[in-house]
Amino acid sequence: MQLLYVRYLAARPVDEIQCVAQTRRRQHCTSALLAPDSPSGVWRLVPATAASSQLAPSAAVMALYDLSGAPYTEQLRWRAQRCLQHAAISTAADLAVADWEPFDPLRHHEHIHTRLPARARRPDPTGRAREEARP
Ligand SMILES: [Zn+2]
Repeated sequence: MQLLYVRYLAARPVDEIQCVAQTRRRQHCTSALLAPDSPSGVWRLVPATAASSQLAPSAAVMALYDLSGAPYTEQLRWRAQRCLQHAAISTAADLAVADWEPFDPLRHHEHIHTRLPARARRPDPTGRAREEARP
């Protein structure tokens, strides 16, 4: 995914990334970062090249969850890996460290997918998961 102009490899699928904050009961917060009602980013196909790399891998494009269009504070929240609730409570300690890894198209080539995820979830007023329909 891309946030704050940097591409990262997340340790989990986008909709499974959990908040790293500690709850008042001293337990690991289990909230997801992704707000189902208001997704912060969009899936896009982007060139799979590294800024520093001259050599493009064989895959020309890759699917990327792009948060570039989200407000700066929202991108900071993702970078800090906090849910909406804990983003507002800066005094809550982090129980885990955010596990973003700077994305490297050569080292992480197995994570490069040339197609958008079929199950990319969209807000649906009926509450049902819906197949993403894109040309
Ligand atoms: Zn949380």
